[in-house]
Amino acid sequence: MRKKTMVELSHQILLSQINKSSILVDATLGNGYDSLFLAPLVKEIHAFDIQKEAIDTSKALLKDYSNIYYYLKSHVYVTDTVPNYDGVLFNLGYLPNSDKKIKTHYETTLQAIDKLHQKRQGFILVVAYPGHDEGLMEYVALQSYLDKKEISYEVHKLPHMTKKDAPVIFFWKYTS
Ligand code: SAM
Repeated sequence: MRKKTMVELSHQILLSQINKSSILVDATLGNGYDSLFLAPLVKEIHAFDIQKEAIDTSKALLKDYSNIYYYLKSHVYVTDTVPNYDGVLFNLGYLPNSDKKIKTHYETTLQAIDKLHQKRQGFILVVAYPGHDEGLMEYVALQSYLDKKEISYEVHKLPHMTKKDAPVIFFWKYTS
């Protein structure tokens, strides 16, 4: 039997949190596959990416959906742009099939998470990839941030990915 991927695991967790009236933020739109999974299941998606290429590719992929709002800006501005949301998804790293130069960065990732934490609204799911240098910094920085703020979070890993630097999902939820 084919083994589950990290993206599939993240979607499974998201499924348990969403319904037809959910407003979600895709904080790292990329090629749009997470939003493609979510669009038919929720009311709205507000999708952020700093690369025009990502927005253009995703708009083509998601052309059949009218419930997606696109923002060519950093996820640092999520809370300024979308006042009410039920959940935020971060899938960290670089745009697949790109030159890998532009990727999420631990300082901006934490800045965005800190602003979301100040709002204490909905759930946050972060897929982190400690297997590459910047990803390891993000992973360490995020874990120490969550511990420092005493945020109670879940960690999800795939059972067949046993290496220390295997991808990790951080999930937590604010109960207003
Ligand atoms: N969710 C995507 C999908 O389903 O295809 C994959 C996301 S990809 C791993 C990470 C994306 O984050 C890249 O497209 C990158 O341009 C974007 N990114 C990097 N820094 C960002 C930032 N500060 N704000 C928003 N997006 C950012």
